[in-house]
Amino acid sequence: MTKAPVIGLLGGGQLGRMLCEAGGPLGYDIAILDEDGCPAKQINVNDKHVTGSFKDAAKVKELAARCDVLTVEIEHVNAEVLEEIATKGVRTASGELRKVPVHPSWRTLRLVQDKFEQKEHFKAQDIPVAPQMALGGGEALAGSLREAYEELAFPFMVKARKGSYDGRGNFKVRGPEDLEPAVEALGKLPLYAEKWVPFVMELAVMIVRTEDDEGNCTGIYPYPTVETVHEDDVCRAVFMPPRKVDAAVCAKAQKVAGQVVRSLWGRGVFAVEMFLLQDGSIMVNEVAPRPHNSGHLHIEAVPYMSQYKAQLHAILDIVPKSMKLIPRASQAIMLNILGGAAADSHDKLVKLTETEYMEGTDVHLHLYGKASKPGRKIGHVTFTTPSPDVDLEKTIAPFVNEVDLIRQ
Ligand code: ATP
Ligand code: MG
Ligand code: MG
Repeated sequence: MTKAPVIGLLGGGQLGRMLCEAGGPLGYDIAILDEDGCPAKQINVNDKHVTGSFKDAAKVKELAARCDVLTVEIEHVNAEVLEEIATKGVRTASGELRKVPVHPSWRTLRLVQDKFEQKEHFKAQDIPVAPQMALGGGEALAGSLREAYEELAFPFMVKARKGSYDGRGNFKVRGPEDLEPAVEALGKLPLYAEKWVPFVMELAVMIVRTEDDEGNCTGIYPYPTVETVHEDDVCRAVFMPPRKVDAAVCAKAQKVAGQVVRSLWGRGVFAVEMFLLQDGSIMVNEVAPRPHNSGHLHIEAVPYMSQYKAQLHAILDIVPKSMKLIPRASQAIMLNILGGAAADSHDKLVKLTETEYMEGTDVHLHLYGKASKPGRKIGHVTFTTPSPDVDLEKTIAPFVNEVDLIRQ
């Protein structure tokens, strides 16, 4: 039997855990760089893990020296050391200098880490994004905020250029009274301002990108378009298909997402978050070059190739050229489980998944092995049905209600 490749993973949260869930049956060894006891290490025992931070260059090199390919579950990693590993190499235990491929490419990671630069890049490719402008730091911030509201008008968003997730790093400026609180909240970080987008819905498309060894894109494979619903900037639910949206709009979203991902570098899955406007046009919000919350429901809806299996197969360059990501479920809804006020606030929801039987609808619970904290993503539940005629949202109303109760 040929030796299974060893895949090095930076970050061992829930995305890493689900990557391991997909990789186990496929026979891949996944070596994780993160703290001991993290969600991914809990379910994947091997002697190749590294303990420490995925931001620590020495630890990333230690991991790379043990692996055939490196990938990430988070974009906020040390892109400089990944560039060095991919282009110059890393010293292995036997003393040899060996290049280890990094997918997605360190170029993509470096670009998307700065959300302002990311969107400047898309703009240059004629991909629609919201008008934006960089804000000065320190003394210059107040002046550039004034320029921002003259240029963009109220309301607009002040966003941290780097390091943000779940909206931590975003501040909506509704009028002059919000300028000072915005500076107080984010003033120490490099910032940019972005025009408020009066979207009617948020859409997302996951794309599998393949590439040859010279770095030329060889395939763009979209998953079905989904609707994402955010509450307080955190994803709350995902709907496949999007509710009351024409197939033509879904196809357009796939096309735009494909254009976005084609303009980036490396193999793997990429999530493209988009705004749908009243006139049916689409604007790109941001891209995550990795498995993503909006793709969880494809574990059950596209069982042939979940986003996690796709990530593994893409980085190993074994994706069938003829691959189509056709759903086997007619409808799917994913609800995120966020921690409540008490450590056991979500127990009733878990019980419901055990006791509630819905004819024609399957329930799939995923808990991540994380301690519950208020607002923390600790799991998700996906509902699927083969029937296009079932009112799935209505069917699962007791679950939606329970998810809402956890947060109160
Ligand atoms: P993620 O966890 O997706 O990485 P993030 O911290 O990078 O989140 P964004 O994606 O920039 O944050 O914004 C989070 C949410 O805030 C969006 O999904 C959207 O609901 C809202 N939002 C962001 N930018 C705008 C905008 N310009 N106009 C209107 N709403 C916006
Ligand atoms: Mg983001
Ligand atoms: Mg986002």
